[in-house]
Amino acid sequence: MTLAVRYTSARTLDTAPVQTSPPGPGEVEIAPAFVGICGTDLHIFHGDMDSRVSAPAVLGHEMSGRIVRVGPDVEGWAPGDAVTVMPLRWDDTCPACRNGHQHICQHLDFIGIDSPGAMQQRWTVPASTLIRLPDSLPLDQAALVEPTAVAVHDVGRAQVREGERVVVVGGGPVGVLIALAARAAGGDVRVVELNAHRRSLAEELGLSTWDPAATDVSALVSEWTADAGADVAFEVSGAQGGVETAVDVLGVR
Ligand SMILES: [Zn+2]
Repeated sequence: MTLAVRYTSARTLDTAPVQTSPPGPGEVEIAPAFVGICGTDLHIFHGDMDSRVSAPAVLGHEMSGRIVRVGPDVEGWAPGDAVTVMPLRWDDTCPACRNGHQHICQHLDFIGIDSPGAMQQRWTVPASTLIRLPDSLPLDQAALVEPTAVAVHDVGRAQVREGERVVVVGGGPVGVLIALAARAAGGDVRVVELNAHRRSLAEELGLSTWDPAATDVSALVSEWTADAGADVAFEVSGAQGGVETAVDVLGVR
């Protein structure tokens, strides 16, 4: 048995012992060290995903930890290895997978949502989902690998180049990670965020921010870009006004 934090019903969690078994063929058992709380986890906690999530459910898909036990037929991994988990399993046979879209597999198992996640003392996962962590990366920061990967993927898709002017609409955790990844790619970045606390956190990281309630963002972008408009905009607010701003600030290319 191992202790787990479980979602039981809307706005209710408990801590309970859950059954564990030794890792089977191709599996490893991990001792999670740190687990992040994703926006999706909050939706689940609020009861908004009860049609998908079967309670009681062990959540957690942003994590870091160390391998404790290795099952049969697992090569290249050993107890003590620091890892994070790529929390998707796909079937590789459905039409979406056959078209190369495994991330939206029609039978997708999003580990930590559709199957037990990392908010437990011991967690068994397929070795195929493991990503090795460098020794230089502290485990608390390593729990952010999954959302950071989202940001790095977005910036890669947008092909942000040196000197390009980038507007990030929405300064929550993923918006800030996208802004940092865009800056690392050489972009000149502005973050548009209504919430003063979020703006101050972004500014502590050296990001420039605009408050859309206090300023006309379109006018600021015109001034900033000599009427050319932004090269790239990321919409990370999920709000209609944010979508409109992101489209509005873009230049015509
Ligand atoms: Zn599939």
